[in-house]
Amino acid sequence: MIEDAVREWPAALDAPVTADVAVPDVVSRHQQSAPVKIVALARDLGLRVWTEPLPESLSGKLVRDAERGGPSGWAIVVNARHVKVRRRFTIAHEIAHFLLHRDVATGGVQDDAFYRSHLSGAIETEANRFAAQLLMPWPLIRALNSEGVTEIRDLAARLEVSETAMRIRLGLPT
Ligand SMILES: [Zn+2]
Repeated sequence: MIEDAVREWPAALDAPVTADVAVPDVVSRHQQSAPVKIVALARDLGLRVWTEPLPESLSGKLVRDAERGGPSGWAIVVNARHVKVRRRFTIAHEIAHFLLHRDVATGGVQDDAFYRSHLSGAIETEANRFAAQLLMPWPLIRALNSEGVTEIRDLAARLEVSETAMRIRLGLPT
């Protein structure tokens, strides 16, 4: 059953399973080739990214900090103890909070290992969807598919995301 779904993932290309929201030009400029340059994107948005050892139970944070922040006054701190694909997802998730939620998260956001925070579940779901959109844009998925990248693990490797994140993006069982 799962194997069938994997074989049929290109169907997601005709009717993307998640409806994407419009992204600023600065975002799409970093989505032209795989993998998406997520740290460079954060910098272009005026954010500084710090990779530091945090407790295992935390993914990362978005903080307003005049000294450690970029030109926007905000910084992302990502857990150095987590593997690279995880850190990339965390950075994308915090970028989502910065772009979509900083007006309601004026004191910053701290995300636990399951991307939960003091913000609502609906806001966290929105941040996860936007993060997936940042790291796995449909045009890049389509381009990789037409280059012959058809295995989920290869697609995930090219985009530097976890296989689980890739499956969720494609609407496949995890
Ligand atoms: Zn969050």
